[in-house]
Amino acid sequence: MNVVVIGGGVVGVTTAYYLAQAGANVTVLEAQQQQGDFGATAGNAGFLSPSDAFAWASPSALKLAIKSLLNPELGVKYKFHMDPALWRWTASFLYQCRRSKWMQNSDCKYKLAQYSIDMLADLRQATQINFDASDQGIVYASRSASELKKLSHHFNFLQERGLQLELLDRDALHHKLPMLQGNSQVYAGAVFSPNCKTGDSTKFTRELAQWCINNTNCQFIWGASVESILQENNKISRILTSKGEFKADAYVLAAGAHSSILAKPLGINLPIYPIKGFSITAPLYDTQMQSMPGFDDTDKLVALSVMGDRLRIVSSAVFDGFDISHRQQDFKAILQLAKEILPDVADYSDVKYWAGLRPMTPTSLPILGASAIPNLFLNVGHGNLGWTLSCGTAKIVADIIANKTPQISMDLLRI
Ligand SMILES: Cc1cc2nc3c(=O)[nH]c(=O)nc-3n(C[C@H](O)[C@H](O)[C@H](O)COP(=O)(O)OP(=O)(O)OC[C@H]3O[C@@H](n4cnc5c(N)ncnc54)[C@H](O)[C@@H]3O)c2cc1C
Repeated sequence: MNVVVIGGGVVGVTTAYYLAQAGANVTVLEAQQQQGDFGATAGNAGFLSPSDAFAWASPSALKLAIKSLLNPELGVKYKFHMDPALWRWTASFLYQCRRSKWMQNSDCKYKLAQYSIDMLADLRQATQINFDASDQGIVYASRSASELKKLSHHFNFLQERGLQLELLDRDALHHKLPMLQGNSQVYAGAVFSPNCKTGDSTKFTRELAQWCINNTNCQFIWGASVESILQENNKISRILTSKGEFKADAYVLAAGAHSSILAKPLGINLPIYPIKGFSITAPLYDTQMQSMPGFDDTDKLVALSVMGDRLRIVSSAVFDGFDISHRQQDFKAILQLAKEILPDVADYSDVKYWAGLRPMTPTSLPILGASAIPNLFLNVGHGNLGWTLSCGTAKIVADIIANKTPQISMDLLRI
């Protein structure tokens, strides 16, 4: 079977891997050049974290929105646009904020994330690719005792579902993160998730693409921007790109936030809205930092991880359409936090500034599998957790294309 995958971010490349493992001939069409920035994959926080499986639509989402209005440094911004897609998305998001929906969505996302981490472990074993993975866990720190209590209560939901967690007081946090030195005193304590991991999703995506080229029937056409997807007799007949025309037996849409734009002319309305985030990547002076767990300042909403010889710091959720431009002031909170808690470990005068789009659905769940067009399949809408979910969702979509029953219930994951 010949399959074309549209999009060569982490979701497209993992999809190609599992399809090729199942015996397909795969062509991946990616708009960026081989060494380019692959969408949201290029600058994310690097967390491989079932611990972040909470759906964003929750009973406390409105409280966070109000808190962000009062404190713009939190980086959650809703820019009002005359855009019916945003209004529809917002109405749907508000509907999902009911407690019952939040529980249902978070439960499903958690199971999917755990499955995905298991799939990633097998993939690592099979391919031996290096993506600066770290198995040091992730720390969720809080600045006040009252917030720490709330945080710990919040995490009970995942603990009840089997996630291993430890509560760290100030001294235990200091012990876990000696690299914070005196600055660990800023925090009252933390919730620690020992089994979560971090890693560089760009490096993973490039290495896995190369592994697929060397070991399977996969080809990658970088610099091929998909211009239109043509359909005849209710089937996709071919794809027109900046590098010519492509035909296959089946097609998988995996173009991140841009998937909704590509699907719309086919009559498929994907409920995906782009939510912008910012990151900086700074070269580390200190190699001892490589033993640092992932770190999340839950009061400032800033996440941080070490990727080999680099420090990545990430923040913000901005509703502003497909615009990925950025200004120096977008990075103020990130740089402030870095210089506050890790002043001497990285060269903050030599950073890479980045902005990217989370392909977010109102439920925070991805949309997987069959579409209304029989030979078009979806692997889209991975939102804030696509690096974590990539291997699991790719395996599910490859199973569906091969007519196998996926190992995870599809009830909440279909379009
Ligand atoms: C600030 C931020 C922090 C994040 N942190 C984390 C984290 O810590 N952990 C986690 O699990 N997830 C995180 N995420 C989410 C994660 O990065 C995304 O969910 C994931 O990258 C989505 O992968 P994707 O392949 O679907 O989309 P993308 O990574 O956006 O890739 C889509 C690809 O499709 C290509 N494409 C688009 N249009 C076309 C076209 N017309 N023709 C050809 N190619 C096209 C793009 O060039 C791109 O390479 C974060 C996201 C952001 C923005």
